[in-house]
Amino acid sequence: MSGADCPDLASLREHIGDCRRCPLGETRTQVVFGVGDPDARLMFIGEGPGKNEDLRGEPFVGAAGKFLDELLASIGFTRSQVYIANVVKCRPPGNRDPLPIEIETCTPFLARQIEIIDPKVISTLGKFATQYVLDTTVAITRLRGKLYRVGGRRVVPVLHPAAALYNGSNRQVLFDDFRRLRAVLDREDDSVPVGAGDPEGETLEMSDKAPENAPVQPQLF
Ligand code: SF4
Repeated sequence: MSGADCPDLASLREHIGDCRRCPLGETRTQVVFGVGDPDARLMFIGEGPGKNEDLRGEPFVGAAGKFLDELLASIGFTRSQVYIANVVKCRPPGNRDPLPIEIETCTPFLARQIEIIDPKVISTLGKFATQYVLDTTVAITRLRGKLYRVGGRRVVPVLHPAAALYNGSNRQVLFDDFRRLRAVLDREDDSVPVGAGDPEGETLEMSDKAPENAPVQPQLF
């Protein structure tokens, strides 16, 4: 059975196994598959496991994860109500950027995870997840805080929470983008009139048109 044939998350995890399909398999402690509600309406996609995630086997458990929990709480969610996964499932050594070959090898697993969970809204955390989902090379700073429609899903790119740890001014940018994310989720529920879910009544920048280099239909889902 290929990963694409796995009917549920448990069989996909089993299919991945003790993966060595790309070089990251040689240096990581364990595969970090993903965590959360398998029926989540909202899915987050980050870049890859860091040191703490590699040791614990769960995404976003370090300082950036603590801030993600804060961001989630600010829009009324707990970690158990969403699903969190990464572009690559093994830690790049020294927290370097994942290489194109590693992303290419690992992302079919993520694509299947997305299909199985079938979230209505995806929020991509940072450059790598955003560029993968939107299939673009446009900078995250140009993409964040806007709404994209990809296939049948809505995609809201935001900065990676770690960006706020290095630059304090990014904290507010993230809180503001999470408010927009909440508004998108509320609009996704047909029972809520458009705009009613926006806590501050601000106009959400809606984009039906993907940015330059970003096709409306990305690969894999
Ligand atoms: S990063 Fe993905 S493809 Fe590479 S070894 Fe880990 S699970 Fe396998």
